[in-house]
Amino acid sequence: MNTDRLLQIDRDHLWHPYTSMDHPLPCFPVASAKGIQITLETGEELIDGMSSWWAAIHGYQHPKLNQAIQEQIQKMSHIMFGGLTHRPAVELADKLLTITPEKLEKIFYSDSGSVSVEVALKMALQYQMSRGKEKRTKFATIRNGYHGDTWHAMGVCDPETGMHSIYKNRLAPTLFAPSPQISYYDQWLPSDYSPMQQMIEDNCEEIAAIIVEPIVQGAGGMRFYHPQYLIYLHRQCQQHDILLIFDEIATGFGRTGKMFAMEHAGVTPDILCVGKAITGGMMSFAATLTSAEVATVISQGSPGVMMHGPTFMGNPLACAVATQSIELIMQEETLDKVKSIESQLQLELASFEMLDMVKDVRILGAIGVVEMKEAVDMKRLQECFVKHGIWLRPFGKLIYMMPPYIISASELSKLIRGLKRSISEVYQIDF
Ligand SMILES: *Cc1c(COP(=O)(O)O)cnc(C)c1O
Repeated sequence: MNTDRLLQIDRDHLWHPYTSMDHPLPCFPVASAKGIQITLETGEELIDGMSSWWAAIHGYQHPKLNQAIQEQIQKMSHIMFGGLTHRPAVELADKLLTITPEKLEKIFYSDSGSVSVEVALKMALQYQMSRGKEKRTKFATIRNGYHGDTWHAMGVCDPETGMHSIYKNRLAPTLFAPSPQISYYDQWLPSDYSPMQQMIEDNCEEIAAIIVEPIVQGAGGMRFYHPQYLIYLHRQCQQHDILLIFDEIATGFGRTGKMFAMEHAGVTPDILCVGKAITGGMMSFAATLTSAEVATVISQGSPGVMMHGPTFMGNPLACAVATQSIELIMQEETLDKVKSIESQLQLELASFEMLDMVKDVRILGAIGVVEMKEAVDMKRLQECFVKHGIWLRPFGKLIYMMPPYIISASELSKLIRGLKRSISEVYQIDF
């Protein structure tokens, strides 16, 4: 099939994330990807600045990850997890337990981030039911959050920026506190926590759990908030017998400079969701971890089992590659690599701050954000990116990069240079 025909069928029949079927923006056809390079069917080679949405942390086709999948395929690609178990699932559990807080020792595997959030919410409800706390049926969160696209995950996303505003009146009611205003880098003021404190006090008998993305709010605004906020939140949840859920689907596995973002605050939740980078971006997979206490209460209540069990639970291919990805993180001094990406982003993105159309530049770990004052012209900007040999995918006012950790200093410079040139061209400025 030639490329034109391929793009025609794509346009006529395939939905892409958050796009119109009638007026989609153009898509670029990818032939292959290797390392930090994406190769288009049309021949262009692009430096990847997105890690395919936080996932491909070791770049594409890492030989060790390819090998893990190939070896596992020789044994079995999939086998049901009901009544059966297997080495890849158990070895991954063993690995996950070494990198997550000791308290979180019971693991539920699922097939995507959104599903791991659903599982977390269901765990919290079952926990409260099992303790006879029938009134604890509500979830609370902060504004600007994003927790996925499935039904109840949508319910705990920001009602405006969380991409699901049109469903607002059809979702289960959630309690929203304003988002934290003090950034990761600013001086902490306890008043930043006051609205959440009040909301919890006003509803403390009805809240089953509070869910937040620790430190970095991703798709709901790419905001970095102060670690103290989590310390306050954790303390108050404990006081009021409310479960705390951390969604580390975007931030987990080193992205913020720590293995998990919660380590910036030194706080352990009752339930933890991980996904995206868990398989090094090789395939969809996620896990929900919880404490022995939560698991025991659920197991001793009625019906005494966790009421969830996806068909592809514990998929062996995904488990095998996830184990290998975590091994790579541990062998390759990943956190040092993230630190050096952070330093370079700080140095080389600083000049963007002087531009009239830029509102803010912020960096944490291997995440660089350029927030514009107005929404960007996505179509023109992406055409320029491709012309200048880079791949970034802005949304709204946000242009951001989160490259694979294996990116070299010169490739990262090239990525930033490509962004500079694209902005110069689209905004017709000399920069
Ligand atoms: C991407 C994301 C999800 C949803 O994960 P999917 O695998 O897309 O279902 C949930 N929470 C956060 C913080 C995310 O970034």
